Amino acid sequence: MSGFVCPGCKVESQIFPPVSGGATKMCQDMDVPMLAKVPLEPNLLISCEKGKCYMAEAPESITAKRFAEIVQKIKES
Ligand SMILES: [Zn+2]
Repeated sequence: MSGFVCPGCKVESQIFPPVSGGATKMCQDMDVPMLAKVPLEPNLLISCEKGKCYMAEAPESITAKRFAEIVQKIKES
């Protein structure tokens, strides 16, 4: 998880900024692709707890768009 999406204003912020390169550097070091940075988003948890697909529930959300990035990158690989 990377960042946090405020459930009120939907703005993404970095609550745990990577001070030593984070997952991006880890992916480079391990020679694996960075698929996407998925933020913590309380509405994702609520959707999951209801058994709902968040990509269908909130397709315009930052998190759903990041999941779509992951799917697209896997399809292209
Ligand atoms: Zn806010």
